[in-house]
Amino acid sequence: MNINIDWFLKTVALAIRDKQVPVVDLIAVQTKDPFKVLVATILSARTKDETTAKSSARLFKHAPDADSLATLSEEQISTFIYPVGFYKTKAKHLTKLPERLKQFDGKVPETIEELITLPGVGRKTANLVVSVAFQKPAICVDTHVHRIMNIWEYVETDTPLKTEIALRKKLPERHWIGVNSILVAFGQSICRPVSPHCDICPLEKKCPQKGVNPRKRPGAKMDKNRALKFISWNVNGIRAVEKKGFIDMLPDFDADVIGLQETKAQPDQLSEELKNIPGYTSYWHSAERKGYSGVAFYSRIEPVTVHYGLGDPEFDCEGRVLTLEFDSYFLINIYFPNSAEKLKRLDYKLRFNEKLAIYTKELETNKAVILCGDFNVAHKEIDLKNPKTNVKNAGFTPEERAWMDSFVEAGYVDTFRMFNQEPDQYTWWSYRFSARAKNVGWRIDYFCVSEGVKTKVKNAAILKDILGSDHCPVELLYQPN
Ligand code: SF4
Repeated sequence: MNINIDWFLKTVALAIRDKQVPVVDLIAVQTKDPFKVLVATILSARTKDETTAKSSARLFKHAPDADSLATLSEEQISTFIYPVGFYKTKAKHLTKLPERLKQFDGKVPETIEELITLPGVGRKTANLVVSVAFQKPAICVDTHVHRIMNIWEYVETDTPLKTEIALRKKLPERHWIGVNSILVAFGQSICRPVSPHCDICPLEKKCPQKGVNPRKRPGAKMDKNRALKFISWNVNGIRAVEKKGFIDMLPDFDADVIGLQETKAQPDQLSEELKNIPGYTSYWHSAERKGYSGVAFYSRIEPVTVHYGLGDPEFDCEGRVLTLEFDSYFLINIYFPNSAEKLKRLDYKLRFNEKLAIYTKELETNKAVILCGDFNVAHKEIDLKNPKTNVKNAGFTPEERAWMDSFVEAGYVDTFRMFNQEPDQYTWWSYRFSARAKNVGWRIDYFCVSEGVKTKVKNAAILKDILGSDHCPVELLYQPN
């Protein structure tokens, strides 16, 4: 679709003029210092702006330039920048930075090619530094720019890198420098990744809204027969994701029930804020071992009963299954075991799978069953980027896939594939090798339902733009009545 990009960007700039400016832009305006912009940009990856601002300020007090940064140890840097995401890795990069800047006479270089030779600097960071610190034409494509440009159908791409390439060809150069800060502020305030505020967006009438599930207008009547929204997310540590803004993020999902896996926390390790998110009741089933496994539910519908585990100590000590019973269905939240390196836990996983299948069938004699969670298996070749090289690896072994075949044959439907038969649809990406940016991933998180209620499934989707974990959430719209 051909939108009028000048009008769109001008309208957005007006709409966000009283919103918070992204922290890196703020540092650029306040300091006009490329070194500080570079360091703040490195710190800002996978971190809330508020946290980046505080951590940058703490670090700059002790290291306002490369020379003073060189006097700090990795441990000191770690302490100053904590709790930004991946603070240990970032501290390692920052320790090496002063030495590497020497090849540029101790100054921050001005080109993308030079910048990406520095530790911890990828294309996105380099583009941002070039445009924000040096005011030179470069397009920094982060998750907001990538997502919003696709919602507008201005580009049709599936990775930020492809978006950058497409925008370099299509976007008039006068917008290159400013587009990132405008769309980051817009993406954080109005066109949010989950349930965008189309109700207050000045673009609403002209926006193609591709792939968007708009938030309900305030005051809109709650329809008793509406579809319920369920979300499932392996958060890879609830306390880690809390630092990345989970508590603010949760109401934005506008979900009726949210199932989390790999919470890695026991109830006494949870903050009061996490246990009491307004509008929701939380239920936790943790592993006996600290910092390991664990599942949880947040629900704004009161369940009839709650079941903790499978009734078998071999599996229940690992906190892997939690079930909410509602009037006409059971919702089961599962964190399947990982077969692990050298398939050391494959036997354990297969035993767990069998036990779970029996448990599910028993529940199904009573009412319909909806299962969600991290199944730790890519079912078919289409469900991972590199099927050929992963045949003997955990999550894609013939044994695990055969169990998934038998599970489907037993009458459970993989709801995502009811709506989407496309390749490259993933829910997990390794943290290594920029796998998420390149979309080299696996689809291992599912919503499955009893065959008998599949007509009640109104949609199933992958929320690939939600960051905070190495998995993204998956969503199900289900109409029980
Ligand atoms: S109308 Fe909705 S989807 Fe389109 S830009 Fe506005 S908030 Fe985003």
